[in-house]
Amino acid sequence: MKTKMYMTFPATLTNTPVTYELIKRFDLKLNILKANIDFNLMGSLLYDIEGPSKSISEAIEYLQNLGLNVDLIPSVITIDENRCTDCGLCTSVCGIKALTIAAPDWKLNFDPAKCVGCNHCIPVCPSRAISGLVPEPVL
Ligand code: SF4
Ligand code: SF4
Repeated sequence: MKTKMYMTFPATLTNTPVTYELIKRFDLKLNILKANIDFNLMGSLLYDIEGPSKSISEAIEYLQNLGLNVDLIPSVITIDENRCTDCGLCTSVCGIKALTIAAPDWKLNFDPAKCVGCNHCIPVCPSRAISGLVPEPVL
């Protein structure tokens, strides 16, 4: 199973090495896409996570018992097809080509597995068709 995991945790847990624990205890493959750690306020992490469903479920239970809020999110953005006009503007800012548009139909195509949640596509959409599910870090 491969999906994305988003977690938030209080300041008291910002020193807990959760990434290390997920790899060591549950043998999961992790790729950190976004990290925001403020030692006085809170932290958040967005991962690509891969491993057996059972290991991922056990890891979520472990994190929740520690006091973290954990969500599995198959996609970091959503695109409202009723608003999208297939103008293609968003594809120009998506460097990893999670958003593409091509012949013959010139319809927008989104690959959630490639998306890293940078949110760069959101402000360029003239139709406001794109929504992000993970907030930008507050600096
Ligand atoms: S959030 Fe970033 S990676 Fe994902 S589709 Fe938008 S521009 Fe591409
Ligand atoms: S910029 Fe907005 S309207 Fe244009 S293709 Fe992307 S999602 Fe659709």
